[in-house]
Amino acid sequence: MPESPSTLSIEEFIQEVFEENFELLIAESGHAISPQAKQVALEQVLLYWRKLRDVAESVTDTEVLLTLPAQTTPQGREFTIEGVVDIVREDEHVIMYDIKTHDADYVRENIELYKQQLNVYAHIWQELRRQPLDAMAVIATDFPSEVKSALAHLDPRALDAALERWEPIVPIEYDPAHKDRTIYAFGEIVDKIQNGEFPPPPLEVLQTPIKGGWRQERFGTRVCRNCDARFSCDSYRQYAMGNRRISERGMEYFTEDDSNQEDWRTASLDTMFSE
Ligand code: SF4
Repeated sequence: MPESPSTLSIEEFIQEVFEENFELLIAESGHAISPQAKQVALEQVLLYWRKLRDVAESVTDTEVLLTLPAQTTPQGREFTIEGVVDIVREDEHVIMYDIKTHDADYVRENIELYKQQLNVYAHIWQELRRQPLDAMAVIATDFPSEVKSALAHLDPRALDAALERWEPIVPIEYDPAHKDRTIYAFGEIVDKIQNGEFPPPPLEVLQTPIKGGWRQERFGTRVCRNCDARFSCDSYRQYAMGNRRISERGMEYFTEDDSNQEDWRTASLDTMFSE
């Protein structure tokens, strides 16, 4: 057990708990991440704390599980929607926060996606739980490129300035009309899963720059890079073949952002052999 925050600085406490959680996740899943990815994850947590200490300290209800049972898909299947949010209650004012590991620019450019999800949560909170709600927001914990650059160059002054400019809280408008569309869209996906329909999007989708992406980042890089199915995905294979080299065996390929593949493989092998 890590020591309590009263005997450690909060940041030391966060690092200890982070390590403990990391080991737990490896034990549970059997998967590892590269040391580089692990370091980035820790930095994200620590900077989230530095930037949003006021919000973190004022959260009154953490990890609130919201459940919307007995929904019906277009093809008549029953399903349940679940989500987890944080709640801040200050005097009579109640704010719902949804923490995302995305960057704030991406959230702002794709705000409709987040509106849909949060409005379902708002419906559950207000209508089913009979709780008041005054505002909603996404907390985007991935830091912007300016912060990444300051971290990479080990420049504390640039980091302070970049943190000052960073706006990780993105307010979300309450609009009950979003709820029904979102529940219907969830239902359509449930039907596809149950029907075994898993075709990937066509190559054109992977080649399309995504709104809010850094440097014209494309779907195939931003999304597929993190997809466990990418090495058996036809669309990704075409995308990767059009972008970078293919190994002699024709099975392993790397996009411009897969430079940490070797670290990742080593970390996974370490996990397998330590079991
Ligand atoms: S790699 Fe994954 S995310 Fe990308 S298209 Fe294929 S299945 Fe979808």
